Amino acid sequence: MAALTEAVIRELASLKGERAPITSCYLDVDGRRLARSKDLEHEVDLLLKGVRSRADGDASVSADLDRIERYVHGDLDRSRVRGLAIFACSAEHLWEVFELAVPVRTRVVVNNAPAVGQLESVLREHEPIGVLMADRQRARMFVFAVGELVERSELFEAVPRETDLRGLRDRGGDHPQVVEEHTQQHLRNAAQVAFTVWSQHPFTHLAIAAPDDLAGQLESDLHPYLRRRLCGRLAVPVTANHAEVLAAAQQVESRVERARQATVVDRLRGSVASGRKGVAGLADVVDALGDHRVGTLVVSQGFAAPGWRCDGCDRLASLGRRCRRCGGEMTEVADLVEETVEDALAQSCQVEICVGNADLDVMGRIGALLRY
Ligand SMILES: [Zn+2]
Repeated sequence: MAALTEAVIRELASLKGERAPITSCYLDVDGRRLARSKDLEHEVDLLLKGVRSRADGDASVSADLDRIERYVHGDLDRSRVRGLAIFACSAEHLWEVFELAVPVRTRVVVNNAPAVGQLESVLREHEPIGVLMADRQRARMFVFAVGELVERSELFEAVPRETDLRGLRDRGGDHPQVVEEHTQQHLRNAAQVAFTVWSQHPFTHLAIAAPDDLAGQLESDLHPYLRRRLCGRLAVPVTANHAEVLAAAQQVESRVERARQATVVDRLRGSVASGRKGVAGLADVVDALGDHRVGTLVVSQGFAAPGWRCDGCDRLASLGRRCRRCGGEMTEVADLVEETVEDALAQSCQVEICVGNADLDVMGRIGALLRY
């Protein structure tokens, strides 16, 4: 099983199916959607049957599909795995599986190169996030990536006991001051733990969970590298279990994700307004995609609209029924937006599905940043 990193995706993207096409298979195996294994297996079997009939009996592709089917029928731990990404080419001895803790959009592509677009989206939408939790004597540090815990570290420093404090007082020390100094030192140590963890498992964002009277101090004790990554505070106690911490971290993550999408939509709005390298609205986006000019597709979640696909050259269009490219007959498709996302992923475009972005809705709920 490969860990999902940019380097791994780049390496995968560089592969070419010289002897036979490469099968890229994404499966939504989320147990919240399909609870029974039988239902999932049935769904996958139907999907693969459709792919098989289009594969024209290619022996390598056929072997890939058999192996994928066996994998899904095997011991898949769906309490942990919500999405599968499989890249296979029997003729090239390629078999790479990513078991993901986040769902993916089910689709199979058979092509001379792996379809890594969706894998890139997953990585981009779930940047590693660190959570530093602290109270007066404990500190805990977690790093989550793509919905999973990748690192944790703990620190416990007992507040000086009453007997120790009495000794200090006898030597002229002041009790509250000693405790305060202890707390200050503890927070500095906690910040150091965060830095040590970051240097081994770099994270993009850092959230703090600490009582209000400590959080500010803890944040200012952080190394500047980490202070730049602060993305908010979590309201979970330092004793929270790992699932509770993950749930809180995912809330922060989705806020960060929406902010990132807002930046992309801003760029799109600028490009469209200046008429350079940007289009908005379904008709123009579909045309640009047909010309392979789309770099990033930006879609409002839940947007759907009917359209057409050419029987001859496969091109999509918002108006039928003659293809503008080849003049062929077109068939109506129920959801042109869905087909557009599919084609964009197959072209290895970046795809951003935006949630609740009013600026994008004003532009027609779909847009594209163009390569040229
Ligand atoms: Zn056509």
